[in-house]
Amino acid sequence: MSTDCTQIAHALGQLGLYLRNAQWRGEQTEALTPTQVGVLTALHRNGPARVQALARQLGTRHATMSEVVSTLVRRGLVAKERDPDDGRAMRIALTPEGATVAAERDRVPPGLSRAIDRLEAGERAAFKRTLAAIIRDLQIAGEIAPQRMCVTCRFFRPNAHADARAPHHCAFVDQPFGDATLLFDCPDQEEADAADRRDIWSRFRAGTPPAG
Ligand code: SF4
Repeated sequence: MSTDCTQIAHALGQLGLYLRNAQWRGEQTEALTPTQVGVLTALHRNGPARVQALARQLGTRHATMSEVVSTLVRRGLVAKERDPDDGRAMRIALTPEGATVAAERDRVPPGLSRAIDRLEAGERAAFKRTLAAIIRDLQIAGEIAPQRMCVTCRFFRPNAHADARAPHHCAFVDQPFGDATLLFDCPDQEEADAADRRDIWSRFRAGTPPAG
């Protein structure tokens, strides 16, 4: 591993440790695994979901997710309820106690929030482009679950506008936006097909507008 890789991995590791420690402060519940936290925060952000959808979102097998959900049910943090869209199916929802834990876990620590707020617009935009490149690479390698991010979304139109501050376009909300507003967990994201994902990415990186 090059020195660059080591130093960057160290810095990311320090941030990860900081986030985990900050999330632990004030935690009244027993230890939660990263996947259990992932389920709670996904339900907190997006509302009730079926086991299948949670497994897909967190990149686990269905059987593994069923076990995770069963553990959370036993701990009183989630409950199963009928899916109003399909009376024969069940979905998973937070209990009041689970909602409290999830809100605490999903909170951005004030120190990190302050540090990010102090970034200049250009720094934040460059940081988001860099994060998108790293996450996309890991996603292609199958090392992390698909993320609901702009750069793999079928509604993303990179460099569709001449305005350097807001060159991209979201066809879902029909709005221009810039790198600093790229999303990594968008509830409206729909994964583009593989060929389109490659095209979107190369146009995003090259700064060229969408075809057509
Ligand atoms: S729908 Fe969401 S993820 Fe897709 S381009 Fe729009 S903002 Fe980005």
